[in-house]
Amino acid sequence: MIHQIPLTAAWLAALLMSALLSGNTYAFEKLGHRLICDIAWREIKATTRQSVSDLLRQSSHQTLADGCTWADRIRDRPQYAFLKPQHYINLPRHATVLPRKRSCGDTTCITEAIVYYTAVLRGDPVSDRRYLNTRPQALLMLGHLVGDIHQPLHVSYADDLGGNRVQVSLLGTATNLHRLWDRDLIARQTPNWRSAGAGLFATISARQRVAWADTDIYNWADESLTLTRAIYAELPADGRLDDTYFTRHNPVVIRRIKMAGIRLARLLDSVL
Ligand SMILES: [Zn+2]
Repeated sequence: MIHQIPLTAAWLAALLMSALLSGNTYAFEKLGHRLICDIAWREIKATTRQSVSDLLRQSSHQTLADGCTWADRIRDRPQYAFLKPQHYINLPRHATVLPRKRSCGDTTCITEAIVYYTAVLRGDPVSDRRYLNTRPQALLMLGHLVGDIHQPLHVSYADDLGGNRVQVSLLGTATNLHRLWDRDLIARQTPNWRSAGAGLFATISARQRVAWADTDIYNWADESLTLTRAIYAELPADGRLDDTYFTRHNPVVIRRIKMAGIRLARLLDSVL
């Protein structure tokens, strides 16, 4: 982890430069998903990229990075309300690992949704009406949900709505614990996602690609749960977080974004 700090500092400097040089700004909330899917796009095989392009065209998206924000853009439309539980999984406070069977209980949730959309994308004959069932939709959902499962607070607790009800402040600015990890810890400036994605992709080593090769989505969720438990354990009672919180946890968020991108690429390569 230590060797990542100079890289991250360099990356933040690059972000600042690109934010200053570029007229493009993007909603911060979408940044994490765009970076993950930009990394995946750069990583996938040429043949996979062709299949992804065909599916994106069918859903009127220009880039995978934009396609991966679709699941959040449709969240509040009534006809898609049934998809909301698929962005996360709730666990008991005492849980240290996910149950491997029936992890979602009686509803749908992120683990089973990733398994299901993988089957749809592969072309398996499935048609469960609790999910979306076309291959372009499955690509958009998978691209988004592989990101979400790597964000710690998407593997957390129902009683505070995954940290949405936990008020905190970062450097004096009010936010909540969920948004902090979804958005506020990624970067101090809103960067151009293409140059930021290229910058992150360039720092992923061969050794990391091997270390992150785990294809078991339950292990991905367990990693997030371990982070979530640590996040709650160290949260100060007054919720006031200073610069050292950002400095320590920004590399964690960046690492999760890179891991999600590489793992999404492997998943797409395996089914397309
Ligand atoms: Zn989501």
